[in-house]
Amino acid sequence: MKQGTPTAGAVIANQNGSQMSYCNKCEKCGETSRSSNTVSIPSKGNKYTNNFRCMKCGNQQRVEIIGY
Ligand SMILES: [Zn+2]
Repeated sequence: MKQGTPTAGAVIANQNGSQMSYCNKCEKCGETSRSSNTVSIPSKGNKYTNNFRCMKCGNQQRVEIIGY
């Protein structure tokens, strides 16, 4: 069963072994988005990456979630 662990810019909301839902989290101001994104959990050792702009402070935040 795969598992995703965020290392930057995200908190996991839910995961079921093949898919995960995460919320964007700004590491500058701590703001966490209310809506979540659902994506496939990366294979072991691989990374899911994305970017978003924080609605609160405008910080360009990188999202990185590693598969285990
Ligand atoms: Zn922010």
